[in-house]
Amino acid sequence: MTLSIVMPIYNEEELLSGLFGRVTRVMDDVEAKFAMTCQWVLINDGSRDHSLELLRGYAARDSRIAVLDLSRNFGHQPAIQAGLEYATGDAVVIMDGDLQDPPELIPELVQSWKAGNKVVVAHRRSRAERGFKGMLFAGFHSVMSRVSDMKMETGSGVFGLMDRRAVNEVLRLHERNRFLPGIRTWVGFGEAKVLYDREERAAGAPKQTFTRLVRYAFDAIFSFSLKPLRAIWTLGFVVSLFSIGYALFLLSLRVFNINVVPGFTTPTVAILLLGGIQLISIGVLGEYLGRIYDEVKQRPHYIVGEVITSAKSNKAGATID
Ligand code: UDP
Ligand code: MG
Repeated sequence: MTLSIVMPIYNEEELLSGLFGRVTRVMDDVEAKFAMTCQWVLINDGSRDHSLELLRGYAARDSRIAVLDLSRNFGHQPAIQAGLEYATGDAVVIMDGDLQDPPELIPELVQSWKAGNKVVVAHRRSRAERGFKGMLFAGFHSVMSRVSDMKMETGSGVFGLMDRRAVNEVLRLHERNRFLPGIRTWVGFGEAKVLYDREERAAGAPKQTFTRLVRYAFDAIFSFSLKPLRAIWTLGFVVSLFSIGYALFLLSLRVFNINVVPGFTTPTVAILLLGGIQLISIGVLGEYLGRIYDEVKQRPHYIVGEVITSAKSNKAGATID
């Protein structure tokens, strides 16, 4: 039995040595306790610092490590996808590389998998983000659980373990705008939960920019919900009903010649309101349209420049796939 650990890395040079120590210790633990072999797949997502050199060094030191060097920065979700496709384990753990997801939780995930659970999700008891960002995260999760067409857990991210069966099913979904927690739920197999406290990132600034996080939230909502489209319909319906009522009202005033004053306020308000509603509606349509365009282009999700493992760095010119 093999356990794979998939981890995206983007400009994380400050924390890589700590990460290497903690994860190798956990891998030793898992190998001893569960009689499994481990594979650690690190995806270098086009880092511009010294992450790649450090990763190269670790791969040479530990034969369990494989580094996929992507040809440029593709983003968090595509990087995870690259790792998932490369991983060969009977079970695959996905986690962030910034130590916000504590590696020490992996044995518990494996334990639950051994007990027969095909999908084990690490569920945060608390999150480290506070203040404005924390509020945004909480807001997103509550909107998402309300709007989504299927029941979705709040409080879990990508961190978790999937059985080979579930991984294979996830790999069959080829959509490009990926929201892994949603995809994992969609695939099914039940979700066992293991609770943990989310830590602060070990060092450095968050690598997901704010706009990327917003995009990610939009991906989540628009790829798992048709409710925004239906909301437009409802809005149109309500506004139309209201306008008909109002038109009838104006007409009766005219007919009975009550208080007829040529106005400025009513048309202005109506134009502004309807204009706003229309723009928002077109925007919502655009979100779906853009995603459809993205999907039909059928571009690959990522491009791997080089696969680095100790076997290959020891023997120059050995097998290259
Ligand atoms: N990451 C990546 N590519 C990116 C952005 C981030 O591979 O374009 C990695 C990053 O190195 C980290 C993980 O994805 O291991 C999560 O990123 P981050 O901690 O910045 O996200 P947040 O915790 O803010 O969601
Ligand atoms: Mg993080």
